Amino acid sequence: MTRAGQGVLVTGAASGIGWATARRLAASGARVMLADIDGARVEARAAELGPGHSAFAVDLADTAAARSMVGACVEAFGRIDVLVNNAGVTDSSGRTLEEQSPAAFARLMAINLEAALAASREALVRMGATGGGAIVNVASGAAFRAIPYRSAYSASKAGVLEMTRRLASVASGSGVRVNAVAPGFIRTELIAALIAEGRLDPAAAIAKVPLGRMGETGEIAAVIDFLSSPRARGLLGTTLVADGGSQAYGGSG
Ligand code: NAD
Repeated sequence: MTRAGQGVLVTGAASGIGWATARRLAASGARVMLADIDGARVEARAAELGPGHSAFAVDLADTAAARSMVGACVEAFGRIDVLVNNAGVTDSSGRTLEEQSPAAFARLMAINLEAALAASREALVRMGATGGGAIVNVASGAAFRAIPYRSAYSASKAGVLEMTRRLASVASGSGVRVNAVAPGFIRTELIAALIAEGRLDPAAAIAKVPLGRMGETGEIAAVIDFLSSPRARGLLGTTLVADGGSQAYGGSG
């Protein structure tokens, strides 16, 4: 399908799933705004995609900035047709939920959940004005179960699923579809960092994936492409679990 004329905003687009998504949607003709806290890197990524695309440096812990980001997309492209709320951080403290500082908990919630809500609310208004659009939220298999030392992360991603359901119910009247993808164990820098820090044993993690391997960022980008396209016109407020079978077979993702 062609996305010619579409304006697309992808958060956390400097690396991993966000970058794979930006590449894929740009390849089908959309103009893409790549937003990320890593300003230099996201500039380079937008340049790599070529003319017509743009970069937006933003710390999504600031929800007002998340709203401005959507406005910047409309300024750049005249419209926003697709918003991909992908940026996310995981707990890196090694602390239990009870031990975690309120400030660290609040920052994680702000980035993973509140920013997505703020951007979505702004996008709903903007998309409604041009006849509709699609919002795709990137959740996680962690939304469905407790993961040791990553309770705040799990809670934030469970919140993303509930937000997806709630927004879908209010958005449908304005022609906007809101859905989510819940990736399992995907080969990205985030995962590479956890492995390097000794906080994730890759062999043990893969043993719980019936598919027998980590997922690839391009596989999640393909799901996001589908959810944000007319082929998914019948899907609203739902979550596609893309975890190599982990949830279906009771493993962890
Ligand atoms: P990644 O670290 O490669 O990419 C995350 C991007 O978000 C980075 O470019 C980072 O700079 C950006 N970012 C971080 N904090 C930000 C902030 N405050 N403001 C703006 N941008 C910020 O990780 P990824 O694996 O591609 O993660 C993408 C999404 O997928 C996340 O929401 C993550 O929770 C989710 N996810 C990943 C996996 C996995 O196995 N990799 C599994 C389930 C869910």
